[in-house]
Amino acid sequence: MWRYAWRSFTYLQEVSLSTRFLIRGGYVFFPEEESLRRADVEIAEGRIKRIAETLPAEADIRIIEAQDKLLSPGLIDLHAHLREPGREDTETLESGAWAALAGGFTTICAMPNTQPPMDTREQAAFISKRSDELGLARILPVGAATKGRAGEEIAEYALLKEAGVVAVTDDGDWIYSSEVMRCALEYAGMLGLVVITHAEEPSLCEEGIMNESTVSAKLGLKVRPAVAEEAAIQRDIALASCTGSHLHVAHITTTRGVELVRQARVKGIKVTAEATPHHLLLTDEALLSFDANYKVYPPLRTEEDRKALLEALKDGTIQAIATDHAPHAIEEKEQELDLAPAGMIGLQTALSVLWEGLVEPEVIKPELLLRLLTTGPASVIGEKVELKEESPANLMVFDPAARWTFDAQNNRSLSQNSPWFGKKLKGKIEHVFLGERHFSF
Ligand SMILES: [Zn+2]
Ligand SMILES: [Zn+2]
Repeated sequence: MWRYAWRSFTYLQEVSLSTRFLIRGGYVFFPEEESLRRADVEIAEGRIKRIAETLPAEADIRIIEAQDKLLSPGLIDLHAHLREPGREDTETLESGAWAALAGGFTTICAMPNTQPPMDTREQAAFISKRSDELGLARILPVGAATKGRAGEEIAEYALLKEAGVVAVTDDGDWIYSSEVMRCALEYAGMLGLVVITHAEEPSLCEEGIMNESTVSAKLGLKVRPAVAEEAAIQRDIALASCTGSHLHVAHITTTRGVELVRQARVKGIKVTAEATPHHLLLTDEALLSFDANYKVYPPLRTEEDRKALLEALKDGTIQAIATDHAPHAIEEKEQELDLAPAGMIGLQTALSVLWEGLVEPEVIKPELLLRLLTTGPASVIGEKVELKEESPANLMVFDPAARWTFDAQNNRSLSQNSPWFGKKLKGKIEHVFLGERHFSF
């Protein structure tokens, strides 16, 4: 029964191997019709047994009261850095999968910029196998787009696909050679794999650490301008158009970048995009604090850009919200801004901060947020999300009113580089069901 409990923690959360559950009175998100309505849901033997307005509480059933809580299919993250192999001091597949579960994510895609980079069948197979062994959030490997992530020669996609990769990318770096990117798209396209681009033209970003704006002028810091993203997206769209293959733009951040994706989609070019919680909630003004937790690539942009991202969520230009969970050691993040590595963790806090920042002030509807975290990302990697009778119990329960502080006690990641670390948050994951396993937090 305790097999899945994480050894390193003394405050074990309950992990039980099934009895029957009745989740009562919650607002249930039905992904197919994208609606949210009150219902009782019964789970037995790892499957959804019954869904109805009210269900009887039979004798041997465990009841979870979910009035005013949300019941949804488990969330899917297209973009997480788990640091294994190479930097297991900052995150492992195991700790990352726990952080995911605690954030309501039941599927996460592991980015390949590990040490060594994940560019072979063996490495991808290791991730898939380890994911099965752990029995926590499912970890889907993403393969390196080029050998060694060097940007020169594409990796063996057919072999990577056999080992379970759902996409290829050199995330962290843009593939500089247009010829290599064209090959990547052609080869991936033949195999039905999506190519994810980290769209920053590096020659425009040399040594830059923040957005180019009045804030950077004030701080006197070197910049990674919006045009670096736009130039990169423009080339990648041109190559997606000529190959007919599926391009996915990771962590899109700029007004014009979004406009390029919008126009390409109108023309029928196969391009999708994701935005991160931090780019949807924060701007470059956060760096006035000199806190390296706000240093991310691509950088936080202006309020105008942030608003453009919100519009793009609403009109369907952006399909998914992805965390770009990027763990770093404290001593590295505590260096001055120039030296600190870029990135923040986000798996465990994503839904809480998005709910409080976007749904509560009615910037976006709860149904849209849930789509962007379930069916949206699923569609990018060709997966399906269901919540109906007889489908596997792959669910999470979220209490939008619960208050909690994200701190060393409840942080499941091995790193704590988040601007929300130590802060009071509203909205918390309480339960996750993964087939016959039940986790409560
Ligand atoms: Zn990236
Ligand atoms: Zn990334």
